[in-house]
Amino acid sequence: MWWLRRLFARSARPEADNALWLHLTCDRCGEAIRVRIDRRYDVASNLLDPGEEGPAYTVHKDVVGDRCFQRISVTLGFDRRMNIVERHVRGGRLQAEA
Ligand SMILES: [Zn+2]
Repeated sequence: MWWLRRLFARSARPEADNALWLHLTCDRCGEAIRVRIDRRYDVASNLLDPGEEGPAYTVHKDVVGDRCFQRISVTLGFDRRMNIVERHVRGGRLQAEA
């Protein structure tokens, strides 16, 4: 039953503070979709020159819900303290983040 142990090990792993949940609504069918962003793995750091304006980190996700094949494209920009400073969503709407 190795797979069962693996399943438990995975679900028992602490989610910690690295998770950022996005709540999207699909433009096409209205489905509510929850997307998990991991601050360690999903975030790309932008190499800004000193004094250059713009987000220090960027996340890009393409999301497809269960109800239709609409692709929702999410791009978020973060400052150095990982606060969201830019939001761009195509194909859907961003409800909130927590
Ligand atoms: Zn949809």
